[in-house]
Amino acid sequence: MSALGAGWNSVKAVEMSFRFLRPEGPLTIRSLGADQHRAHITLPRGADGRLARTCPNQACSPGYFKVKPGTGITGQQAVAFCPYCRREAEPDGFSTQEQLRYAKDLVTREVHRGVDQMIRDSFKLGPSGRRKLGGGFVTMEVTLKSAPLPHVRPPFEDEVRRDVICPHCTLDQTVFGLATWCADCGADIFPTHTAAELDVVRRMLGDIARRREVLGRRVAAKDLENCIEDVVSIFEAAMKAMSTRYLVAAGASAEEAESQLRRYGNAFQNTARTQEVLSELLGVGALPEVPWESLSAAFAKRHPITHNLGVVDRKYLERAQDRQRPGREVRLVESEVEAALGHVSAALATVHSRLFGTVVAAA
Ligand SMILES: [Zn+2]
Ligand SMILES: [Zn+2]
Repeated sequence: MSALGAGWNSVKAVEMSFRFLRPEGPLTIRSLGADQHRAHITLPRGADGRLARTCPNQACSPGYFKVKPGTGITGQQAVAFCPYCRREAEPDGFSTQEQLRYAKDLVTREVHRGVDQMIRDSFKLGPSGRRKLGGGFVTMEVTLKSAPLPHVRPPFEDEVRRDVICPHCTLDQTVFGLATWCADCGADIFPTHTAAELDVVRRMLGDIARRREVLGRRVAAKDLENCIEDVVSIFEAAMKAMSTRYLVAAGASAEEAESQLRRYGNAFQNTARTQEVLSELLGVGALPEVPWESLSAAFAKRHPITHNLGVVDRKYLERAQDRQRPGREVRLVESEVEAALGHVSAALATVHSRLFGTVVAAA
């Protein structure tokens, strides 16, 4: 049986050399001749219809993701991709440790069943498991007490909760953090991942008026602060991921890229320093289409929120050149966060297209 077209939903076929396996059964066992059998195992999916997958590249981190079989490429599929490192393999080559354990347990149970049946057949034991042999001077009774078949526990998989649908092949996939590649078609879907993250903040923002009604002004103010912090965090994480990818593509190892970036500290929390990294490290000149000043104002508000419980200090005032006086709370309104979302989205799209081109063709 060829693996081609087997799809996401199976583990790599397990080959066995047992004479006594039943040709058919729960594992779809097929004889390959010369006492060789091949078992094909269909993996159970999670309650949400998703199937856990692991990158075959041991060095890939986090390397763990999920896909919803049937949502992306339909029909024959020769290769699939790791969303984090783009390692290619056959779709059934991404089994998790738990799925391999499950497959092994199922095969072990089938071997138990096969051995039991073989003994029954050899001694022509009926369903009672007993038979008298002989009949002359020597008679003997054969009794077979079968042990209960071992229980096979279904695979237990981790919770992963960042769903994204590929705009190219419509595969519904779930990853940890910000991934880059579509697991089905291998296209660069990084902008889709960042857009999904920003959209979560947008939805939280859209609910603040209701929460102000129900939970009061202090909770609503805290929600707004959390939203601006999230916007900056998304910018920072996305810039870091794109910079690392660019440096690695230019020949650096992952460790080298990380240490090069480390020299710039928290540069991506600050727009002036972000531009420094872009020009010094990544060779990207000025990006006039990015609204750096508006971004800078929003980012400057994050500092007192994160480090001073929202109370303005002198450092903030100098940075923001706002007219608010020290000791007052940072005034943050919904429209500012909304605007920051738009600016971050535009900045990330511009940097992405400058570093990697606007359209990255699917493999
Ligand atoms: Zn990988
Ligand atoms: Zn895709």
